[in-house]
Amino acid sequence: MNDIFLDKNENPFDIPDSIKYQLLEYIKKTKLNRYPEKGLPMLLEKIGDFLGVTGENIIAGNGSDELLSLIIGDVRGNIVINTPTFEMYSFYAKNFDYNTINIPLNDDFSINTDSIMSKKNAKLIILCSPNNPTGNIIKRSDVEKILDMNIPTVLDNAYFEFSGEEYIDLIDDYDNLIILRTFSKAFSMAGLRVGYGIANKNLAKKLKEKQSPFYLNLLSSKMAEIMIDNYSTVQEHLRYIIDERERVYRHIKELAYPSRANFLLLKRDIYDYMRKNGVYIRKLPFMDNSSRLTIGKREENDIAIKLIEDYIQS
Ligand code: PMP
Repeated sequence: MNDIFLDKNENPFDIPDSIKYQLLEYIKKTKLNRYPEKGLPMLLEKIGDFLGVTGENIIAGNGSDELLSLIIGDVRGNIVINTPTFEMYSFYAKNFDYNTINIPLNDDFSINTDSIMSKKNAKLIILCSPNNPTGNIIKRSDVEKILDMNIPTVLDNAYFEFSGEEYIDLIDDYDNLIILRTFSKAFSMAGLRVGYGIANKNLAKKLKEKQSPFYLNLLSSKMAEIMIDNYSTVQEHLRYIIDERERVYRHIKELAYPSRANFLLLKRDIYDYMRKNGVYIRKLPFMDNSSRLTIGKREENDIAIKLIEDYIQS
């Protein structure tokens, strides 16, 4: 049996050939000796239209990771994060010689708003919703309370499409908010590295000034545009993954927390056990006694369920 990879929160569906061919057609008729148009305005317009905002509200980058690095690198001071959360926030902070102020999540994984609001000198606040690895979303009213502090705030919304919880309208009221999203998860494009931010025009403009003019290659940016044109395929995959998430959760709920993303946080570190049985899940270095299972295709999930059920019974 081949190993099964349920460790990186990737989409289990590759982009269908019929859609990949659209990129091949584009490659055939495109001069690859030329740079992309400065600032890739077509991509920004396309994403803006898709979301019901404008290209001026959008900044794109080589994965949302790159945008995180750009934003964190631009901050001169402490960054508030809510732990456990996505580990790249503290990775980039360290790269730039900053500290993160780590505020533990409450027992139900909600953010500790009082504690965050006491950090009045923070230069940046990072919220992650749905949070990786806990899988829960942040209540809109809590997001608003934090935004009212008027400190630049990133809302990392990488798993938005699996949750349905929308925050974009908040950019009209808050010029300190940047929402980060990605083509890596719902859009099956992790290998092509396209992420984007949504913000008020002034903030988006300020951030874009820090970018190199050709921040993405022609092929990745074109594929993102093609995937937007094929959103019905994305939606089909989303429905499948969300149904599977609920099915897997029902089977293993003794050992898992509910989730609004494409993964489940497990209440034990079963990495070694799963790995011995050919299934790679994510070990969580900052969370003892936990691990994380990405939702895969049905047959992969069946194998994971069986292994976890056996583990629960033993
Ligand atoms: N934010 C979160 C919460 C993530 O889990 C990930 C990917 N694991 C990212 C951002 C980075 O995504 P991208 O592939 O767009 O760099």
